Amino acid sequence: MKSIHPIILAHGGAGLRAITAPQAACLRAALQVGYHLLDRGGSALIAVEQTIRVLERSGLFNAGKGSRLQLDGVRRMDASIMEGHDLRAGAVASVEGIVHPITAARLVMEQTNHVMLVGAPATTFARHFKLERQPRRPRHRPAGVASMTRGLSSEALRLYRDMMKGSLLLRERGGKETVGAVALDRSGTVAAGASTGGIDLMLPGRVGDTPIIGCGVYADNQSGAVSMTGLGEGIIRLAVAKEICDRLVQGKAPVTVARLVLKRLITRIKGAAGALVLTSKGRFAIAHVMPHMAAGWWDGKGAPMVGDKFQ
Ligand code: ASP
Repeated sequence: MKSIHPIILAHGGAGLRAITAPQAACLRAALQVGYHLLDRGGSALIAVEQTIRVLERSGLFNAGKGSRLQLDGVRRMDASIMEGHDLRAGAVASVEGIVHPITAARLVMEQTNHVMLVGAPATTFARHFKLERQPRRPRHRPAGVASMTRGLSSEALRLYRDMMKGSLLLRERGGKETVGAVALDRSGTVAAGASTGGIDLMLPGRVGDTPIIGCGVYADNQSGAVSMTGLGEGIIRLAVAKEICDRLVQGKAPVTVARLVLKRLITRIKGAAGALVLTSKGRFAIAHVMPHMAAGWWDGKGAPMVGDKFQ
């Protein structure tokens, strides 16, 4: 039997801003961690988890230590992970006070009969497994609220002000985006994962696509693995990750499928997103319809490829 050559792809989100040098260096380091695991015969699942942990820990992306705040000033994070051999999956949503939601997602998959845990019970679950903690609210208070919200028009902002009669806390906008990874291991199994602090101006309790299997991530050895980034509300409504995998089964090239589905996202519901797509044969695409997508890949040859403009 022909041996399978492993590969890993990772992203640091799609958006308006170009990748910074520290973000590019961190993505390279994360790809190296993931690939070395695959090279030594590790599973795609563990490679995806460990790659995402590097990004969560860095504070350079909107995940883990760098997570955005919801309008009440609290970090509530979402993450999910899935493997393509037995279609096992785990997710956490609105989890607080931990550095590595992706590990909490893997533990939900491996230690429970469930797929997703949410809110305070998800946080208790993570604490039970002694996952590293971080403050629910950042140590440094955000700067004056008035200056940060000036000029912003948002339904969420108006609704939150009405609901809470005032108090509003949020961090400076932009600059950091969601993280994710997909991998193929030597056994021919694919896996996908993603981790996020959400979007700007979120109502407390808002959950995006990232922890929803079939929306933010999907993995099936009969098709491939997908990790999404972008505006979660749109990605959920078109169940984008599963849609891409279903179209891969028809044998089309990953780039063709990714472009087609992303185009549909724009024309149907004015969505915006980026995708990592990897088939179980090792064909892959990084595609986005936002100006930049911080991402890269490595198959052990040369140096990891990292950039912010793909197909
Ligand atoms: N998809 C994430 C969310 O909607 C955000 C992102 O990818 O930037 O929560």
